[in-house]
Amino acid sequence: MASRNNSFTAVIVGANAAGLSAASKIRRMQPQARVLVFEKSPDVSYAACGIPYWIEGTVPSAEKLVQLTPETIREKRGIELFLTHTVVHLDAARKQATVVNSATGREFSMPFDRALIATGARAILPKWPGSDAKNIFTIRSLDDGKKLQAALTARVQHVAIIGGGYIGLEMAEALRARQRKVTLIEKLPQILPGYETQIAQRATELLKQHGITVYSGVEVTGFEVNKANTATAIRTASLPPRIEADMVLVAVGVRPEVELARQAGIALGTTGAIATNDYLQTNHRTIFAAGDCIEVTHQLSGKKVWLPLGPAANKQGRIAGENMAGAHVRYWGALGTAVFRAFGLEIARAGLSTGEAEQAFGSAVVTHIRAHDIAGYMPGEKAIDVVLIHDKRTKRLLGAQLAGHHCIGKRVDVLAAAMFAKMTVSDLQKLDLSYAPPVAPVWDPLLIAANVAAAK
Ligand SMILES: Cc1cc2nc3c(=O)[nH]c(=O)nc-3n(C[C@H](O)[C@H](O)[C@H](O)COP(=O)(O)OP(=O)(O)OC[C@H]3O[C@@H](n4cnc5c(N)ncnc54)[C@H](O)[C@@H]3O)c2cc1C
Repeated sequence: MASRNNSFTAVIVGANAAGLSAASKIRRMQPQARVLVFEKSPDVSYAACGIPYWIEGTVPSAEKLVQLTPETIREKRGIELFLTHTVVHLDAARKQATVVNSATGREFSMPFDRALIATGARAILPKWPGSDAKNIFTIRSLDDGKKLQAALTARVQHVAIIGGGYIGLEMAEALRARQRKVTLIEKLPQILPGYETQIAQRATELLKQHGITVYSGVEVTGFEVNKANTATAIRTASLPPRIEADMVLVAVGVRPEVELARQAGIALGTTGAIATNDYLQTNHRTIFAAGDCIEVTHQLSGKKVWLPLGPAANKQGRIAGENMAGAHVRYWGALGTAVFRAFGLEIARAGLSTGEAEQAFGSAVVTHIRAHDIAGYMPGEKAIDVVLIHDKRTKRLLGAQLAGHHCIGKRVDVLAAAMFAKMTVSDLQKLDLSYAPPVAPVWDPLLIAANVAAAK
């Protein structure tokens, strides 16, 4: 724990998961510290992950997605928060941030003792011909969500989503719930890149059952745009050569937001995200970085990877804040544990994919089982797919993927814990997992998969 007599000024760039976690931690540990948070957008502390559910209508308003209001942050947490303020330069040597108030255009300097870059990630919008048309959207910030929501008028009947990742699928469900015709276009041969074929196929079938037209292996090349700068159709490199749409959502992935860091001479890693040491310090030791803008060490492979996910951003922000306040806490890396739901099907993964496991460990054994998710005689029973990936030589569990309707998130968490503890598939067989007919079968699907994997 840092000394409470030790006062300093902390400048934090970015006021979402990582930035605000750090700011709150510093204030708790060092009540005398001056903590200034600059955020370029008008929004703060919002759950980006909830945007699809607001578009869908399950969450009634954008305000509900805001976890802490600016007033709470300022008055209850004692943080000096500046919205619509962009940090345009960090001078690491002079320990000074240059900030522009985008409302007034005023530029000013802010000296700091320690700074945190928590600039997150930005949505990729490829420079396809016509991609600046006014009915083409990406979803990253709350502001993006507001723009899409406002544009989703009765005239918009057909929405094309480019990108078959988890945000594409969540948005497909949201737009179907809003009674729109939805077409999903994925460049790769299957949707859900990084997932095993069995999981991707199950998701594809489900999308089709819910009326989504799915094109995989179809590469977008541009848009047909009318005189009003509205895209009327998507051009592709294969069949179908054109897909008409009233609105397009581009959900082809995100990139770390590293421009500020790059300009400040902060080293980037092999993934293109900011490189930090285990204490989340950059190569300039007074400047820390956390959240989606940094790369992390994979807990299994030991390799540097980029895993932009909410829980990791929150944890890293908290640890960066502790270290900025004088502690010496290590960040232990990540496994990329993730879960999402589309049309009632929960899909989750943790650890390495088969390809990643082969690359890191030389060999990977893949086990796929399909089982009952609750007792087979109970109403509501559905199939669960479990994929386990283990190292052939040591039998160590290296990866897991699941799809089903019951407790998928918590089951993947069991497997994430097993991977963290370096368990083998034989260890997994010995776990004492719970059972009750409406909740889980007497042989939990994880144990069935472990039994099959251990016998291989
Ligand atoms: C639609 C959607 C659904 C998602 N669903 C999930 C999910 O289910 N599970 C999950 O784990 N993750 C999910 N995520 C990802 C999750 O939201 C992110 O991992 C998390 O928000 C990262 O937090 P962060 O603080 O690192 O970055 P961000 O949330 O991106 O925040 C960075 C902030 O920095 C600000 N900023 C950038 N540059 C500057 C500058 N120069 N000056 C001032 N401010 C600046 C930005 O405006 C932004 O507010 C989802 C994301 C989206 C968009």
